[in-house]
Amino acid sequence: MPEPLADAREFVDDLIGDRAAEWDRAGLIPDDALRTLASRGLLCAEVPQASGGLGVSSAANGEFTAYVGSRCSSLRSVMTSQGMAAWTTQRLGNPQQHAEYLPKLAGGQLAAVAFSEPEAGSDLSAMTTTIEPDGDAVVVRGQKVWTTAAQYADMILVVGRYGSGAAAVVVPASAPGVTVTRVPRPSGCRAAGHADVGLDDVRLPASAVLGGGQPLMLLVTTALAYGRISVAWGCVGILRACLDAARQHARSRRQFGKPLAQHQLVGRHLANLLTGEQIATRMCEHASRCWDSGSPDMVVASVLAKQVSAVQAAQGAAAAVQVLGSAAAHEGHAVERAYRDAKLMELIEGSTEICQLILSDHAVSITA
Ligand code: FAD
Repeated sequence: MPEPLADAREFVDDLIGDRAAEWDRAGLIPDDALRTLASRGLLCAEVPQASGGLGVSSAANGEFTAYVGSRCSSLRSVMTSQGMAAWTTQRLGNPQQHAEYLPKLAGGQLAAVAFSEPEAGSDLSAMTTTIEPDGDAVVVRGQKVWTTAAQYADMILVVGRYGSGAAAVVVPASAPGVTVTRVPRPSGCRAAGHADVGLDDVRLPASAVLGGGQPLMLLVTTALAYGRISVAWGCVGILRACLDAARQHARSRRQFGKPLAQHQLVGRHLANLLTGEQIATRMCEHASRCWDSGSPDMVVASVLAKQVSAVQAAQGAAAAVQVLGSAAAHEGHAVERAYRDAKLMELIEGSTEICQLILSDHAVSITA
């Protein structure tokens, strides 16, 4: 049987072509590009084949995510949201909900996941969105912010309070009471469709509720574990794109009578970039191995991978700008985009500081 992602890179190359900078400038990925990828199951390739997906491993999907991330971080961000929606549905949904939603996610519909609120950023325990049962329906009320891909989404997985615990609820973007307001000109990942989502008495069937009654932070951790590995692999892609661009420029550009690469201080930047790319790759491979084997270390490994990869990507992109000099100072240059995109990776899916707090708790809890 052919490997499901065998021709996926060529497919992505054809689809993106040289348009990533144009999408970034316009703040928009064309609908046909997103739908084409979504309908082939490539935005959430780990959905099991029994549910209509490609059923690939985290390791294989991770390498593919890095490839997409090396070409276009906005598209990779959309992929992360779609995969996180699918994973959350898989983990929290019952068999009927799997049958209802997973084939749609693997077959062309687009999804976003909404946790953050105006007063609940790093501290998601401050979330105030409610999902209230009302007969055989539920009513969703609240305000979400910065939801990646919400601008494109057919369905938004909204996390909120449900009784004394929490739930996720599948909200069709077209449902009465839903407003999606695009975040104007984000500093990075500009075409990832970030939007604020208003939920004004949105009435839905009770069957749209996933995992009702779970502790809020357990539900958040479940969903974010996927998001963190995906972002981490995306950062590997950023590092690879930056290393390629810096290497090529340092070989071809001459100053003081020799290629930049032969100036040792430039060489140091290249060495640091290579080191960062290798460290991030190894952390991601470890996290994906834990994921694929169902290891109890999976949650911590995903935090570690995200933390290390995001920091390396931000540092690596800055180093690449330094190597390219004014060549990277043009808006839309791959390295200029990487620099803006990478910084945001240190803020999302648990900022650098929040990941450090999680890792510090873990370090304290380890018994020799
Ligand atoms: P704050 O929580 O206000 O934090 C500000 C700073 O204080 C940060 O540096 C933080 O690390 C630090 N800080 C906060 N608390 C502590 C502490 N206890 N100790 C040390 N330092 C601390 N949300 C979604 O729900 N879905 C999405 O798809 C999504 N996509 C996003 C995409 C982008 C590009 C961005 C920028 C945001 C996105 N978000 C999304 C929101 C994102 O999850 C939050 O921005 C993030 O959780 C940080 O919250 P905040 O921005 O409110 O910062």
